[in-house]
Amino acid sequence: MPVPAFPPLPPGFLDRLSSILGPRNLLTGGDATAPFLTDERRLFPGAAAAVACPGSTAEVSALVRACREAGVPIVPQGGNTGLVGGASAPAGSLLVNLRRMNRIRGVDPANATLTAEAGTVLATVQEAARDAGRLFPLSLASEGSAQIGGLLATNAGGINVLRHGNMRDLTLGIEAVMPDGRVLHGLGGLRKDNTGYDLRHLLIGSEGTLAILTAAVLRLSPLPRQRVTALVAVSGAAQALALLDLLRDRAGEALVAFEFMVQATVAMLVEAGHGFPVDPALPAFVLFDLTSADPEAPLAAQAEAILARAFDGGIVLDGTIGASEGQNRAMWDLRERLPEVQKHFGPSIKHDIAVAVSRIPDFLSRAGAACAAAMPGCRIVPFGHLGDGNLHYNLSPPDGMAPADFLARQGDINRIVHDIVHDLGGSISAEHGVGLMKRAELARYKDPVALDAMRAIKAALDPANLMNPGKLLP
Ligand SMILES: Cc1cc2nc3c(=O)[nH]c(=O)nc-3n(C[C@H](O)[C@H](O)[C@H](O)COP(=O)(O)OP(=O)(O)OC[C@H]3O[C@@H](n4cnc5c(N)ncnc54)[C@H](O)[C@@H]3O)c2cc1C
Repeated sequence: MPVPAFPPLPPGFLDRLSSILGPRNLLTGGDATAPFLTDERRLFPGAAAAVACPGSTAEVSALVRACREAGVPIVPQGGNTGLVGGASAPAGSLLVNLRRMNRIRGVDPANATLTAEAGTVLATVQEAARDAGRLFPLSLASEGSAQIGGLLATNAGGINVLRHGNMRDLTLGIEAVMPDGRVLHGLGGLRKDNTGYDLRHLLIGSEGTLAILTAAVLRLSPLPRQRVTALVAVSGAAQALALLDLLRDRAGEALVAFEFMVQATVAMLVEAGHGFPVDPALPAFVLFDLTSADPEAPLAAQAEAILARAFDGGIVLDGTIGASEGQNRAMWDLRERLPEVQKHFGPSIKHDIAVAVSRIPDFLSRAGAACAAAMPGCRIVPFGHLGDGNLHYNLSPPDGMAPADFLARQGDINRIVHDIVHDLGGSISAEHGVGLMKRAELARYKDPVALDAMRAIKAALDPANLMNPGKLLP
């Protein structure tokens, strides 16, 4: 679906922005703006003439008012790690990058909260929480670059959603600049507030189409003092689910992450030269973490007992438990390398799908058969957050297929996979958002009543359609 073409920036507009931000914080010219206009997947190049880097909420507010008066569309951007083109800024728009708004405004240990500005990188928030003796549990492979604003705007997930929830669950309040330039103040850090519509939840996941998020109150958890990481082989997704069930039953809240990979996915790691601590020829693998805030809890013994039971019951075929935190990290490193390693095998056709956890085996067998029939020899390499029912269902080209020929099939492969997801009552966008990439898919699969309500909300809050126009909403 094409992004609307916008008229050129009006005369004098950049001078006005420069007076708001200071000339150093308004980037113009190819070399300065290029890094902000190239997305992670190099699929959605931007062409905005200027990148504004505000340093405070007041500056964001002044910027938004200036854009509103001049009729200039705004594209908010964080770490630019998004995978669906949401932060891609077309010609005639203004790219607003939040990276200068990177202060931790405060930590409240008694309230178990931390307040961070939108441009704070996730790893910085994790570190600040650790320094305060607490955990900020959101964790994903892009955590060294992704920013709180981008994570909120896409309601990011990652590996610990199973235990701690996604960004929505981890946020107690937000501050945002609305399309009219006014500031929405919501940083009270309340756990209870039934005073009407919850605008926090409306703006989380809105992908920059309703407001620019400027700060958030984030929920902290007790710091884990022990972690047990295990990598085990299973004969398929049904056995992985049986293991999930057993772990939930026996370990309860200690289970924080439960990731799944199939043999073809692990084969890529091995072919790329990475060692794998379990026989990589086995059919499928689960990587899971148990943690405890209690340093005395017999966590390792508990994990061993659960795995022995799973082994005796034929659920687990083989496996290893990390003997040190270094080994734990090495196993997670293998998992986090997967998106990078897949690039060695040519372009990818990616899907970020969710179905009810119980329906994962059905999804995998139906999608696997359909994709193999549609493109014989393609490499089907799913991996991801099985404990949440969310898989990154990725394909790489068959040997010898030209990249362009492979990518030309993207539309029909998407249709095959997404039709199966829809038939199973699932979602075509579990955690990466819709952006530019999945707008047409949203029109096809989203409940029409929900779509109408979304359009009505957008029109009410942003009648001039200046907040990230052309993204998310079909
Ligand atoms: C290797 C890799 C692994 C990843 N793994 C995961 C994963 O496990 N789970 C997951 O959920 N995601 C994952 N992602 C996707 C990505 O990191 C997330 O979508 C992240 O939330 C994007 O944050 P960002 O700061 O980079 O946002 P950007 O990419 O800059 O922007 C993303 C969207 O948010 C909007 N936005 C950004 N900042 C603001 C703001 N302040 N106010 C309003 N709107 C804003 C943008 O307009 C855009 O629509 C991964 C990405 C990579 C590259």
